[in-house]
Amino acid sequence: MNRVLNFSSGPASLPEAVLRQAASEMLDWQGSGMSVMEMSHRGPEFTHILAQTQSLLKSLLAIPDNYCVLLLQGGAIAENAIVPMNLIGTTGQADYVVSGNWSDKSMQEAARYGRVHLAASSEAQGFTCMPELASWQLSEKAAYVHFCSNETIGGVECHWTPSTGDVPLVADMSSNIMSRPLDVSRYGLIYAGAQKNMGPSGVTLVIVRRDLMGHALASTPSAFNYQLQADNESMYNTPPTYAIYIMGLVLQHIHDEGGLPAMAERNLAKSQLLYDYLDHSRFFSNRVRPADRSRMNVTFYLRDEALNTAFLEAAQSQGMVQLRGHRIAGGMRASIYNAMPISAVQKLRDFMFAFEKNHA
Ligand SMILES: *Cc1c(COP(=O)(O)O)cnc(C)c1O
Repeated sequence: MNRVLNFSSGPASLPEAVLRQAASEMLDWQGSGMSVMEMSHRGPEFTHILAQTQSLLKSLLAIPDNYCVLLLQGGAIAENAIVPMNLIGTTGQADYVVSGNWSDKSMQEAARYGRVHLAASSEAQGFTCMPELASWQLSEKAAYVHFCSNETIGGVECHWTPSTGDVPLVADMSSNIMSRPLDVSRYGLIYAGAQKNMGPSGVTLVIVRRDLMGHALASTPSAFNYQLQADNESMYNTPPTYAIYIMGLVLQHIHDEGGLPAMAERNLAKSQLLYDYLDHSRFFSNRVRPADRSRMNVTFYLRDEALNTAFLEAAQSQGMVQLRGHRIAGGMRASIYNAMPISAVQKLRDFMFAFEKNHA
């Protein structure tokens, strides 16, 4: 078996130990005589798996009791609609901060459910930075303020927690949740698809302050009504059972490796390794404002873009895959989520150095 170093932005690589455990339990989960995929979601085995996953989420993120943890389907793109359906009704309008393609998409989708106000944008800067808090023009009557904590395509991360007064803060954390400690109490709602840092695609984490539930638009589909899902422990419809099981294994792995403080330390070291190299290279460049550079998605460009294909092919021949940037952004992108070891990032840096030397 020959596993590649997979720099995909998502679905992304998972800890090998997790995949091995899942393989060993595939046909018979802990003496149950069944695969997790075959279990009733209401049976004792899966009830245990769900409780275990919920409890790991609560302990790793130190989620306060006045928040509800939901495990839903549809991913972050579905949440772009589900969030306004559930929250915008109180005032009919919401503020959006746009720092890249994902938050732009969120805003456009929300406009179908109420009035959206663009509170700040870095589009004029080509989405190479996070709009500074002082530039956010918040409206008084917003039901919430939405932003994206890590723009996966541009490689722009918000390294601070915005203060929005009494207006609840809503964050799309799909690509940096679990990468560092988080103060959940500063947020009204956090959502994230699992397939970057927490598991496979198919399960969406929603952490919502309890007092924000119960105001859904009448047209909200029942399966997407937070209150209804909370009342049914995320089992109003059949939950994505296997994805939840793998998520539980990944969270246990994060816990065993030292939890979020350890993840933060490693992710900082990994990203610094690449940014330090990029800043000293005359062959490669990164365009993001240094204070806003992502620790999860390191975007970079070859100065001579005619070498892009040669670069990707050479990387592939050394077992490093999925380095091509998103088609909107062009260039390259190395996604280095929790499961990517520092040794893999060193290997990439060494490869880039050698490629630079051979082509300079
Ligand atoms: C990957 C990603 C999404 C899209 O997630 P889906 O699972 O395709 O809905 C949305 N927002 C961010 C920040 C992402 O990284």
